[in-house]
Amino acid sequence: MRILIAMMKHETNTFSPVVTDWARFQDWGAFMGADVVKTYKDTAMPIAAYIKIARELGAEIVTPLATEAMPSGKVTKEAYEYMAGLITDAAKDVDIALLDLHGAMVAEHVFDGEGTLLARLRAMRPDLPIAVTLDLHCNLTQAMVDNCTALIGYKTYPHVDMYQVAEQVGRIVVAAVQGKLEPVMAWGHPALLSQTLRQGTDDEPMKTLIAMARDAERNSDVLAATVFGGFPLADMPDAGTSAIIVTDGDMALAQAERDAILEEAWRRREEFVYQPEPLQEAVGRAKLMTNGPVMLLDHADNCGSGANQDVMTVIAEVLRQDLDDVVVGAVWDPVAVQAMQRAGVGNTITLKLGGKTDMAAIGLKGAPLEITGTVKVLTDGRWIVRGPMYTGVSVNMGPSAVLDTGHMQIVVVSRHHEPWDRGVFTSVGIQPEHHRYILLKSRIHYRAGFGDLPTATVTLDGDGVTTSDNSRLTFEHVRRPIFPLDLINEP
Ligand SMILES: [Zn+2]
Repeated sequence: MRILIAMMKHETNTFSPVVTDWARFQDWGAFMGADVVKTYKDTAMPIAAYIKIARELGAEIVTPLATEAMPSGKVTKEAYEYMAGLITDAAKDVDIALLDLHGAMVAEHVFDGEGTLLARLRAMRPDLPIAVTLDLHCNLTQAMVDNCTALIGYKTYPHVDMYQVAEQVGRIVVAAVQGKLEPVMAWGHPALLSQTLRQGTDDEPMKTLIAMARDAERNSDVLAATVFGGFPLADMPDAGTSAIIVTDGDMALAQAERDAILEEAWRRREEFVYQPEPLQEAVGRAKLMTNGPVMLLDHADNCGSGANQDVMTVIAEVLRQDLDDVVVGAVWDPVAVQAMQRAGVGNTITLKLGGKTDMAAIGLKGAPLEITGTVKVLTDGRWIVRGPMYTGVSVNMGPSAVLDTGHMQIVVVSRHHEPWDRGVFTSVGIQPEHHRYILLKSRIHYRAGFGDLPTATVTLDGDGVTTSDNSRLTFEHVRRPIFPLDLINEP
């Protein structure tokens, strides 16, 4: 038996000005052939579970591609066709395909990157059993559902169950191949464009919806039940919340469980809308919290959802109000890192930090912040994740440095990396738990590595293309009407 195992992932923020080409995939990681197994077999990634299943079956493993890029703008046509071509070429003579996809990949020429890939596979190999894992931020489409045998999404945000869901869906498809069960799927998506900042699975309303999915799976006829928060910043027709239920041949059961989850999601639609707080007031409130560590979230500039990690609005306000003992993870500015390398450790430098990117989609001109500090640390930015998300995966933040202003230590990196693991700090010699304020360019994923640390968390509404202020975004492609862009009362 030959089993194809592949990963092709990108969460596309169509408001980002950053072009996602093949080089950007290579920056985060692009592997082929034997390197795929070597790189991922001992990690917590879906692909590791697929490798385990294939080995148990004694199958030959075919690994044309395993790649992922940090979220950013549309994937170039060239990169998309190259990656999709590697997978479809390899699928010509395999018996099963186990795929690790995201579900919110938009390319220059296709809205539905995953559905397009799956449709091509299905057209070429109508009987090929295909298992698919998708991110909780997947924008599910008819093409994805129509062109695979079974699909499943993560039940956690932060995503700490990637391995488990891959093992679940992989075993469903293997059992189907062995004639032990017959997967059927029912899916749906109400007119609900929920905001990412309101999708944490430890918070309501996702907590209840995920509990409903887990309850559904207690019925042995329900093989997999998934609720997708969706990714509103990929402006494509199917963006938004959805659910899909896989049962063993029982379509009525799949539909009933789907309806129950989606009715609850719609009933609680208001809870998926983020309630803002003026930045000055929020920072002022944080300043009164002296029992740290207090988590400060610069959520509008979170590169883990496609922002550019170099907007200085929040950092400037925290400096202006003079909060003391702040560590910042992290600002993307390769030019500043080079300047700090030239200055050398221990020397004082004045920098125009960040603000290198114009963001036409939100009418923002890049505005660097002039800042003086001491170069405290210089590193190559390489470390391995030891926390619960992406466990075992090698990270490369590029040449990195720490600028110490006396009140604030800022980690500056050369490649985008969302701070979901403490390695962002510990790799540059900072122990975050020993500081009063931890300012992160993150939204929810920080909870994976830092969740047990803060005495309080304050979300700070700055600028950037992961803003939770819908009035700053011009949606052109998502189906309308949709809540909350349109204040409708029918799903
Ligand atoms: Zn996600």
